[in-house]
Amino acid sequence: MIFFDVDTQFDFMEPGGALYVPQAETVKPNLERLLRAAGESVVATISSRCAHQPGDPEFQMFPPHCLEGTPGAERVLAELPQLPSQEIAVDAVADAHTQLEAGKHYVVKKIVFDMFSSKWLDGLRQRGAFRGEHCVVFGVATDYCVRACVLGLVEAGAQVQVVEDAIRGVAPETTEQTFAEMRAAGVEFTTTDAVLKSLNPEQR
Ligand SMILES: [Zn+2]
Repeated sequence: MIFFDVDTQFDFMEPGGALYVPQAETVKPNLERLLRAAGESVVATISSRCAHQPGDPEFQMFPPHCLEGTPGAERVLAELPQLPSQEIAVDAVADAHTQLEAGKHYVVKKIVFDMFSSKWLDGLRQRGAFRGEHCVVFGVATDYCVRACVLGLVEAGAQVQVVEDAIRGVAPETTEQTFAEMRAAGVEFTTTDAVLKSLNPEQR
């Protein structure tokens, strides 16, 4: 199982953030539960993180956000999951030896909303790293970055679950469209409780 923690950064998650996703802060307790469980149950986790420079091309589509080195670009649950972590630079590439290690936390920096714009992550995907994998996706925003992650994983042959009470969308219409698209693509919807229970049926 691999967790995908999409763009859970201050500028998206908190009221007053540069590109605040409405009510995103309401899913923070569930994000915290999922990320804490990833540490406890040693689930490989990939956190994507926008890391922009002033004048990045994406700012023609979205207002400036997550400028590298500013508080808005930090992850809201920076200390989780408690796993050995590795930061993947914006310009990193995967070579023939690159592979995901079990129980590691990867923080993948990016400058385009689709996390597979990372050549490192896309390289792994092209080599089949996610084929047949159970991928559990949560974060923001449902109708942009989460959508790109989920559909990108489906395309790669992953078995994708979206945690419906640990995501938030920018606008109701595009979020509804995204849900329809995901369902049509065979994506399964789940809840934080169900994910935690599947990790540790005894205790949770
Ligand atoms: Zn961005």
